[in-house]
Amino acid sequence: MELQPKEKCFGCGACGAICPREAISFSPDKEGFLYPSIDAQKCVSCGLCQKVCPVGKEIPLAEGYPKAYAAKHKSGEVLYRSSSGGMFTALSDLWALHQGGTVYGAAFDRDFQVHHLRAQDAAGRAKMRGSKYPQSRLAPEVYHALEQDLRSQKDVVFSATPCQIAGVRSYLACKKVPLEQILFVDLVCHGAASPAVWRSMLQAVSEKYGALKEVSFRAKDEGVSVHLLKLVTASGDITQKAKKEYAFYNVYSSLCMMRPSCYSCPYSSLKRQGDFTIGDYADLKRQHPDFFCEEGVSSLLVNTEKAEKQVVKLRQEAELLSVPLAEVMQQNLEMPTKCPAQREKFWSCFAREGWDGLQRHYGRLSFTRRVIFHVIVPLCRKLGIYNLAVKIYMKKS
Ligand SMILES: Cc1cc2nc3c(=O)[nH]c(=O)nc-3n(C[C@H](O)[C@H](O)[C@H](O)COP(=O)(O)OP(=O)(O)OC[C@H]3O[C@@H](n4cnc5c(N)ncnc54)[C@H](O)[C@@H]3O)c2cc1C
Repeated sequence: MELQPKEKCFGCGACGAICPREAISFSPDKEGFLYPSIDAQKCVSCGLCQKVCPVGKEIPLAEGYPKAYAAKHKSGEVLYRSSSGGMFTALSDLWALHQGGTVYGAAFDRDFQVHHLRAQDAAGRAKMRGSKYPQSRLAPEVYHALEQDLRSQKDVVFSATPCQIAGVRSYLACKKVPLEQILFVDLVCHGAASPAVWRSMLQAVSEKYGALKEVSFRAKDEGVSVHLLKLVTASGDITQKAKKEYAFYNVYSSLCMMRPSCYSCPYSSLKRQGDFTIGDYADLKRQHPDFFCEEGVSSLLVNTEKAEKQVVKLRQEAELLSVPLAEVMQQNLEMPTKCPAQREKFWSCFAREGWDGLQRHYGRLSFTRRVIFHVIVPLCRKLGIYNLAVKIYMKKS
């Protein structure tokens, strides 16, 4: 059996989950992304792994969709704990938890590695809140638990990147699992970052400051327009101290550490895989100053009839403002992240010198990039013209 070439594989894990002989296993490459390999001794060439692979099988939305909203949760506490407007919490309450159902989403493990987990209550779901930029592992057991939940007629919310949802949809279709009780929520996605780089940075941080107790990629302590990586150890909050030495966002912004398939992502478009799509609403302040809120607002795309039927109920949990689709469009709804020319150099540096090398070469921004990331980007976010500025920049480059 031949699987997808490496540069196309999303790492969704559907092939491993469906294999009846457990012949497919996943191991990380030097960038830390998981890829499947087949044990020829166990493989019976049934072809299910090829059938389930979602690569190249994207389906456009039905006519009239998506419909766009600005959306914010009514609870200030939820807004504070979520990356944007808390729509994941609103949708998972509405569709699943209030009905005794289950929620699937990405959470940290004890070592702050990112995995998809299943939750049956608010405490479990709370761990899934917030964006985590490294690619989350979607293990076969998660697929199997989801299948079991749906066969036992539970209401389920499954939240993930669109490529992961494509894998899950394809798995459920191959297994002929009814989909009435599942609500898919996908993310606008800039690209999934390398788990190996993340692990290497965490190791460097804990060697210097002690074991980490809390990590948040999008802490709102300095306002929603600042993407703040919060790091807390047993001896306290080291965010400010670690900011310069462990400048994860500077390294991430080189765009070199995305999974290779992200650079040709078919879902950086309106071929949405979720019933709903959630993302940041960067330019709201300029477009709808009355709806703007410092604690964060999500952009919400309603992609299917099933989702549209939930909009009235959703208003119990969240405030919604219908907006023209053009207003929420952003780079990763139009085109994938560009593969930078220095990507190979980046990975040679990581192989040679690990996090320290990346920090030295990519963590300190040049003067121009400092002005862009520390002055222009925050200013554009504050003024609500971020997406507009990115569009102009992309057209010029
Ligand atoms: C890798 C990544 C790239 C993103 N890129 C963009 C972007 O370019 N533009 C944009 O507008 N928004 C982007 N987002 C989405 C954005 O950051 C918020 O997650 C989104 O606005 C939802 O916020 P919320 O307040 O509604 O929900 P939150 O409560 O913050 O929920 C976040 C949801 O994201 C899921 N999630 C978190 N990390 C991962 C992960 N690693 N893999 C899969 N699912 C995950 C969780 O399961 C949860 O359901 C990205 C998110 C991720 C994870």
